[in-house]
Amino acid sequence: MTVLILGGTGEARSLATTLVERGVAVISSLAGRVALPALPEGDVRVGGFGGIDGLVEYLQVAAITAIVDATHPFAATISAHAYAAAQRAGVPLLRLERSGWQDHPDADRWTWVPDLTAARIAAADCQRPFVTTGRRSLEAFAPWSDRQVLVRVVDPPAHDLPLSWTVLIARGPYEIDSEKMIMVHHGVDCVITKDSGGSLTSAKLDAAAALDLPVVVVQRPARVTMSTVHQPAEAVDWVLRTTAGSASPT
Ligand code: NAP
Repeated sequence: MTVLILGGTGEARSLATTLVERGVAVISSLAGRVALPALPEGDVRVGGFGGIDGLVEYLQVAAITAIVDATHPFAATISAHAYAAAQRAGVPLLRLERSGWQDHPDADRWTWVPDLTAARIAAADCQRPFVTTGRRSLEAFAPWSDRQVLVRVVDPPAHDLPLSWTVLIARGPYEIDSEKMIMVHHGVDCVITKDSGGSLTSAKLDAAAALDLPVVVVQRPARVTMSTVHQPAEAVDWVLRTTAGSASPT
C-alpha cells in the first residue's frame, strides 16, 4: 500500500506527517518550483510526471494504491491530470483543498475577479498596489511599469521588474501587525490577492480591513468535480478507509 500525495501545500505536509505516524507508506510529489521547499515527512519525489500519460505510468511503476491531490487551489492543471490518470489507472483519488476566503467577514466588500488581467483592471485606480498573487503572475501587471508596485514572492522573480517596483521575498505565515506595518511603510493603497484560502496568509486581509484598503481577489479556477475534503484529518480517514483492505496501518 503506497499513497501518492500531490503536494506543495501545508495541508499536504500535514497529511504526510499523520500518515507516516500511522505507518502508511507515503510518497509526496512536489513540482520543483520553489528553490528550498518545506519538505514533507516520508518519501519525496520532485518534478513533473510528463502529463497524464507520465502520471499513469508512474502510478503503475510505483504501485500507488491511492492518491490525494492536495495541491494548491490554483494548481488546476496537475489536478486535472490527477483526475484523468486516476481514472485510467483505476486508482482511488481524493481532493484535499483548503476552503477559500469567501466566508471572511469582509469578503462582500472585496472585488472578486475571474483572473489576473481582470484584477489589474479592477485595481486601475491604485497607484501603490500590494501584489501577492505569486511570482508567475507578475506578467499580468507589466503595464504598471510606472507605478510603485509592492510585490511579495517566495522566490525571486525570474525576470527583471520595473525599477519603480519593490520586491519582498518572504514566506508565510504572516501576522496582522507586521502586515499592517508593511502596508503603511510602503504607502500601499490596495491589496491584490488570489483566493488561496487558509490562515497562513490571511493576515493581509485583516490588515487591509483595519487600514480600510480596497482588496481585489482572484477567484479560484474552475476544476473537475471530484470527491473533495477540506481538512487533512478528513483525508487521513479516507486514506485509512480506502487502503484498509491493502495493508494494516498502525
Ligand atoms: P499546475 O499549473 O497545475 O501544473 C503544471 C505542471 O506542473 C503539471 O502539469 C505537472 O507537470 C507539474 N506539477 C504541478 N504540481 C506538481 C506536483 N505536486 N508534483 C509533480 N508535478 C507537478 O501547477 P502550478 O500552479 O505550477 O503549481 C505547482 C506546484 O506548486 C503545485 O504542487 C502546487 O501545490 C504548488 N503551489 C502552487 C501555487 C499556485 O498559486 N499555483 C501556490 C503555492 C503552491 P507534468 O504535466 O509534467 O506532470
